[in-house]
Amino acid sequence: MIDFELSEKARGIQLMTRAFAENAARPVARKFDEEEHERPVDLIKMVHSFMKGGIGGSTMESGSKEKDKGKEKRKSEGNFRTAVMIEEIFWGDAGLALALAGPGLGGAAVQATGTPEQKEKFLPRFSAEEPVWGAMAITEPEAGSDTANIRTTAVKDGNEWVLNGEKIFVTAGRSALEDSEGFVVVWATIDPKAGRAGIKPFIVEHNAPGMQITKIEDKLGIRASDTVSISFMDCRIPEDNILGSAEVVDKTQTKGFKGVMATFDATRPMVAAMAIGVGRAALDFLKETLANEGIAVRYSISPGRMTAIERDIMEMEANLNAARLLNWRAVWMLDNGQRNSLQASMAKAKAGLVVTQITQKCVELLGPIGYSRKLLLEKWMRDAKINDIFEGTGQIQMLVTARNVLGYGRDKLK
Ligand SMILES: Cc1cc2nc3c(=O)[nH]c(=O)nc-3n(C[C@H](O)[C@H](O)[C@H](O)COP(=O)(O)OP(=O)(O)OC[C@H]3O[C@@H](n4cnc5c(N)ncnc54)[C@H](O)[C@@H]3O)c2cc1C
Repeated sequence: MIDFELSEKARGIQLMTRAFAENAARPVARKFDEEEHERPVDLIKMVHSFMKGGIGGSTMESGSKEKDKGKEKRKSEGNFRTAVMIEEIFWGDAGLALALAGPGLGGAAVQATGTPEQKEKFLPRFSAEEPVWGAMAITEPEAGSDTANIRTTAVKDGNEWVLNGEKIFVTAGRSALEDSEGFVVVWATIDPKAGRAGIKPFIVEHNAPGMQITKIEDKLGIRASDTVSISFMDCRIPEDNILGSAEVVDKTQTKGFKGVMATFDATRPMVAAMAIGVGRAALDFLKETLANEGIAVRYSISPGRMTAIERDIMEMEANLNAARLLNWRAVWMLDNGQRNSLQASMAKAKAGLVVTQITQKCVELLGPIGYSRKLLLEKWMRDAKINDIFEGTGQIQMLVTARNVLGYGRDKLK
């Protein structure tokens, strides 16, 4: 049964994060947006001290676990709590939230595809005293939505893998690679003829020889978070740093690749939570501004008597709630060990669309106030769009949804 009440612990996390978001993140949101690439060191330390495991920590506690064989299953709400926390912190500021240390996509990939030994080695780093970042590098100049196009290669040489290729748009790549304990999970092919089945994730640590950051992006939104290009030229990493098996199971199938994609079942709901936080920030601001002008939404009057703005606000609220409920279902399934690829994609598609629409509508309705850089609304509009792009665009989420609903494979629905 799905329970819509927050547990005491989740409520506590929500209140604590909300206080941080309001009192620590909001006041410096503009500063770090303007000073793109400046690391918010004090904030990072503050958040890390009370939230070791950080944003994305959800993925470190995935699915229900059996206490003992044959005994009752222990259900977790780790991912649910993290989704609640993420909504609050992104309500405070999306750029700063993404700049905070934590497992991120890299940690999620280790959790989803790593061996017990790899989890033991890499995941505790995120709970250590010093902040640590995990990033993931999939995208290449010729491979975005279509990951089968990945050209970065990994070739076995003795007891090492040798990586060659170029990755672009790696979120928190600089933070992860500058940090002595940080790492980037790099997707590379060990058999270019095998298509998706040949693609494997590799852990590349900060000091790997042959790896270099070649560019730091200047971006529209989430400017406090670094996004980098990384080149690999005969980059050598230990043989144990391949996540999962090096076997190319079946060249006609994509079984191994499905394991890799499981990372997204855990992370897409977290992106949806980010989007919901930004959308809520814009909507709260709109309502507050209107309330200061003496305009309140009259929820109980008939639709025929509503003003256009009341109708707009109710529609936005309904969409935001729908996105949150879809997302909570996806996260609940994850916590309960249920396959949630469909629900995760539906939640991300809805939330990415909704946050883009809400932030634009709020700017439109408030006119000059919305467009002014004195206030944060224009920034939220800029910060919103990325939620509809990374970890699979809105169009790709709808494609995944359609495939799941219709029971079609990649070959039938492209
Ligand atoms: C700020 C930022 C941070 C990022 N962080 C990361 C990161 O940490 N790691 C990482 O690996 N990548 C990251 N990315 C890359 C991001 O995941 C890709 O941009 C995204 O997957 C889309 O790929 P693409 O840009 O190559 O667009 P393309 O795949 O070329 O798509 C272009 C357009 O066509 C649409 N499209 C493509 N195929 C289809 C289809 N079959 N049906 C319908 N429409 C389709 C897309 O939706 C899109 O609108 C980041 C990007 C940005 C902007």
